[in-house]
Amino acid sequence: MASVFCVANQKGGVGKTTTCVNLAAALAAVGQRVLLVDLDPQGNATMGSGVDKRALTPSVYQVLLGIAELAQARRRSAKAGYDVLGANRELAGAEVELVDQERREHRLKRVLREVDADYDFVLIDTPPALGLLTLNALCAARGVIVPMQCEYFALEGLSDLVNTVRQVHAKLNPELVLIGLLRVMFDPRITLQQQVSEQLKTHFGDKVFDSVIPRNVRLAEAPSYGLPGVVFDKSSRGAQAYLEFAREMVRRVAEPEVAA
Ligand code: ADP
Ligand code: MG
Repeated sequence: MASVFCVANQKGGVGKTTTCVNLAAALAAVGQRVLLVDLDPQGNATMGSGVDKRALTPSVYQVLLGIAELAQARRRSAKAGYDVLGANRELAGAEVELVDQERREHRLKRVLREVDADYDFVLIDTPPALGLLTLNALCAARGVIVPMQCEYFALEGLSDLVNTVRQVHAKLNPELVLIGLLRVMFDPRITLQQQVSEQLKTHFGDKVFDSVIPRNVRLAEAPSYGLPGVVFDKSSRGAQAYLEFAREMVRRVAEPEVAA
């Protein structure tokens, strides 16, 4: 049975997509069978996995609307080592088109059941909003990974997200837990970042992942080659940090709290 996780944060540019593609590639590198689901109409995770979003029919959009099968829509990213259910601009229409459909928040969960036996991990990248697409991700997942930069306003946005996760847990998906906060683009030379990092640990305790992802230009360069940083330059500090994070995720998945 696949463990389904979503990477969420309603802010844009905080490292969701980078985390999703690199965690997918790092898990694949240690022998896990991975499906990455791109739920952002920008299609950055799709392109960053080496799959051309312009040549996608069907995409995740048709799968969510029930007019294509996931098994036909997924693509293999040979270089990255995992499968991709890709997205492009069409997906923006789904927010509206799903609104009057029954059990609209549970669409993704239902289609993922078809391929449950094929994967150890399913990772869902989400758009920078707490709309119906992100809601579908939260309903399909057992855990949420929240990448964040250690900046002053980061803490402010976090309470909205934590509230949303609580509500989804209470009303729609009792399995859902916040697995953890991942500090990304971290620069230890910046005092404010150290301070925010300490505050996070005080408030959230062991919900803060031990792994920390440094700011590293190789991670930012990799998408233009259609590769996750972990594949593009495995020895870089950023790639090494994501590989360590993947090992931490595998350990946490085995823990009873998450398994329950
Ligand atoms: P989101 O999906 O939350 O919008 P992205 O993953 O696309 O965020 O990241 C935003 C930008 O920051 C991208 O240009 C990405 O390449 C860059 N970036 C992300 N993580 C890092 C990092 N650890 N070091 C350097 N650049 C990063
Ligand atoms: Mg993104």
